Amino acid sequence: MHDAGRTGIGAAVYCRRSLLARPRSARRSAPAVADEVDVNTAIIRQLNVSRVFHALREHPGSSQREIARSTGLDRATVSAVVGQLEDQNLVDRTPKPRRGRAGRPETALRLTERAGWFVGVRLDPQELHIVATTIDARVVAKRRAPGSSDVSTAVRRVAGIVRELADGEQVALDRIRGVGVGVPGLMDRDGRLALGPNLGWHDVPILELLRAELPVPVYADNDTKAAALAETLFGSCRNVMDFVLIIAHAGIGSALYQGGMLQRGWRGYAGELGHVKVVTGGRACGCGGHGCLEAYASERAILERMGHQGRACADLSEVAALAKGGDRTADAVLEDAGEKLGTVLATVLNLTNPHRIVLGGGLAQVAEAVLPVVERVVARDALDPARDGVEVIVSELGEEAVAMGGIALAMDGFLSLPSWLSLGQLRKRDTDSVVVP
Ligand SMILES: [Zn+2]
Repeated sequence: MHDAGRTGIGAAVYCRRSLLARPRSARRSAPAVADEVDVNTAIIRQLNVSRVFHALREHPGSSQREIARSTGLDRATVSAVVGQLEDQNLVDRTPKPRRGRAGRPETALRLTERAGWFVGVRLDPQELHIVATTIDARVVAKRRAPGSSDVSTAVRRVAGIVRELADGEQVALDRIRGVGVGVPGLMDRDGRLALGPNLGWHDVPILELLRAELPVPVYADNDTKAAALAETLFGSCRNVMDFVLIIAHAGIGSALYQGGMLQRGWRGYAGELGHVKVVTGGRACGCGGHGCLEAYASERAILERMGHQGRACADLSEVAALAKGGDRTADAVLEDAGEKLGTVLATVLNLTNPHRIVLGGGLAQVAEAVLPVVERVVARDALDPARDGVEVIVSELGEEAVAMGGIALAMDGFLSLPSWLSLGQLRKRDTDSVVVP
């Protein structure tokens, strides 16, 4: 998530009232040095709000004592944060069944269902995927619609579906707490798409356009980076500090999560593994170059190569079925895709030493055929210590990985988390107790 549209930490422009608003009495008259103290204090408050929110999301029905234990925060801090969440009508209290006779009765806390919605969007040239969830990320509705390579058509269509969803489910638009959009391409930190090879878009202020169409908080980021956040919140990397996510749709996107942080690079463009050259002067790629990984191993590339050899398939599950039935063309195309992917992954292992490699999108559908090849090539090409113990798995989030990434973006935006923080870091430091006076 980027910080576009924010005037300061904890003051997201699109939030009607920041979760982190402090009472006036708590604000200090601020000489220069105290500004920095205030900023740090605000960040710690944000972290604490986020920790308690996610603890309630993952363990509904917890008592304050249990939240204190699971977050590592002291009980006074938990009590203060729960109070803030209650002020925003985000928390329900019910009596907690007693286990024994001793002690005072406890209250079970949970995020309230009526608190609103998040909406996640995968903006893809072929198809839009939209998911709506409750505030605790339970999916309540899904929609699909044709994609468009025309910017304004795509933006209007996304906005139209969000409005239709709200109408159809009788949710007032202002109950949508955030819309997160995963965009395939190089997104900078201000929500501008510098290059979307498979959309054919260059230098498009996509976030600004989406915000102009929707009167709710909107957040946007690269689709695979968004999906990586979803892996840490809802998927297979909840407690994994170092992983690489690779998703194949029309192109191939990747996201690098290291030390509990999503790596963005200088301008935000880090992670374009799909455009690593695997064949000098090879197949043409949507980026304008030749021989890129995604010209061999993306969903589009595999289907094209099958079509050129007289084996037209509608999707990758058909290719997978052909390969399983012994079709030599399907076998050869998937073998080659796995070889190219393995070559690039071996370099990634040597360079970044991840704990886990997660494959998603179309790659999940052909994993049975591609994974053994990838593993063989990685064993051949990566340094032994760098690949020792590394797990290669298929994403649990399936086809909605990017749309759930949109939910993760919206949730982070709602919690006013600055982009350089992530839940992974909170978990890593779960044993520390962070207290704000
Ligand atoms: Zn390329």
